[in-house]
Formats: sequence, C-alpha cells, structure tokens
Amino acid sequence: MQAKYERRYFVNNAKDAVLNYARRIEELENEQVKAKSELISNLKESNNLKATEFIDWYYWETDYSTDILCDVIGINKATLTKMITKPHAVPYPCPKCKGTNYHPCKNRSEANLLFSPSHLKFNKDKYICQKCKDDETKRKEEKSRKAAAANREKNKKRISLLQSMPYEEYLLTPHWKKFSQERRREADYECEKCKRDDLKLHVHHLTYERRGHEKPSDVIVLCEACHLAIHGRPIPAYMIKNPVPLMERALKAMGKTL
Ligand SMILES: [Zn+2]
Ligand SMILES: [Zn+2]
Ligand SMILES: [Zn+2]
Repeated sequence: MQAKYERRYFVNNAKDAVLNYARRIEELENEQVKAKSELISNLKESNNLKATEFIDWYYWETDYSTDILCDVIGINKATLTKMITKPHAVPYPCPKCKGTNYHPCKNRSEANLLFSPSHLKFNKDKYICQKCKDDETKRKEEKSRKAAAANREKNKKRISLLQSMPYEEYLLTPHWKKFSQERRREADYECEKCKRDDLKLHVHHLTYERRGHEKPSDVIVLCEACHLAIHGRPIPAYMIKNPVPLMERALKAMGKTL
C-alpha cells in the first residue's frame, strides 16, 4: 500500500509541475502578445517619419533578427528591404592606421563585410581613410618630385660631360649618332643646300651653343661637297662628276630654272 501511495504522490507532483509549466508558458505568451500590441499602438501613434526612424534604428543599431521587426510591424522582408534605402555610415577600423572610418552601407550584409579584416585588407584602396589616402598621395608626389629633380640633375651632368669632351669624341657618342641620324631623316636624306642625295651626308653645326642638347635648327644636313665648301676647302673633282644636274638642282632649290 505504501508503494501505491508513493506513486500517487509522484503523479500528483508531476501533474502540478506540468500544469505550472503550461501556466508559465501561457503567461509568457500573453506577455509577449501584450508587449507586441503595446509596441504596435506606440508605432501607430507616432507619425511615419518616426516609424522610419524606428526601423532604421532597429535595423542598424541592433543585432536582432529582422524577422522580429517584420512580425512586429506587420510587413514582409521584401517591404523591409525597400524601406532600408538610405545608406548608413557604418564605423570600422581603417585597414592602414586602424583609426575609425565610416563606410556608407546599403544593408546589413554589406556592413558585415566591414567586420572581416581580410575583406578590408584585400580591398584596401576602397576602405583606407581620407587621411591615409592624402598621406599616400603626398608620398607619391614627393617621390615623383624627387625623381624628376634627380633626372634633371642627371641630364645636366650628361650635357656638361657632352660639352666638355673633345669634339671628335663627341661625334662618336650615342647622343650625337641618334640626333644626327634623326636630322638626316628629317631632311629626307638630301643635302639641305643643294638637294643632292648621291653623296655622303654630313650634319654640320651652325652653332655650338646647345652642344649635347641641340635644336634641329642648330645644325644643317649637307652633302660632302657642300660641307667642304662651307668650311672653305677645295671640292675634289669626283664629287662634281655630274655638274649640270648639280647646278639644276641648286637652281631648283632656289626656285629658278636654267
Ligand atoms: Zn587610415
Ligand atoms: Zn662642318
Ligand atoms: Zn650639297
């Protein structure tokens, strides 16, 4: 009889426990319904702007699920997405100086990227702060300014070396070879005085003022014969083997005919 009583006692206790539990659940559900209806009436009383502010605040300043928000204000997720249109400035550490920077995010998933150090690191250019960007620009400007100054200095040294070396040596430098070849090409591989193209072409300096950095007009392209003549030297006979066409060409160059 003792065992039967004990079982009855246990059953009675279990019944109480279950009933207590069920009652507590019911109470919580009622509280939840009450809290929800209070919130909804609060929201209804506030004007539209305030409701938008509330949604913005909930969406951006809390980590709670958007399901709860949708449930409370009675909209679906698609409507909520449409309501979250204003970009929100989300704080995050600058990947370079670690100072607080803000990035305009369209939604939570975009904002979540800002909490991923690897995402920030791989998209450095997009996320570094204005100060770091300015510093970088200044650094680059300084670097190119220095490079330009060094280049100018190097060029000055190069020119002064070209000016101080003996003339014969100067004529063998890559600078002169390149410049004089370019000048011959400009002259269409003809003597600029008599238009002959059957003799070797020389490039004669009219001025040595800019030796090492000549202007095209500092020199003249001359055939061997004209070059000798300009230096007051005799012209060998073989160079005048075709005197008539030479004269014709010379006259033609002056705009006259025979
Ligand atoms: Zn920074
Ligand atoms: Zn000469
Ligand atoms: Zn000539």
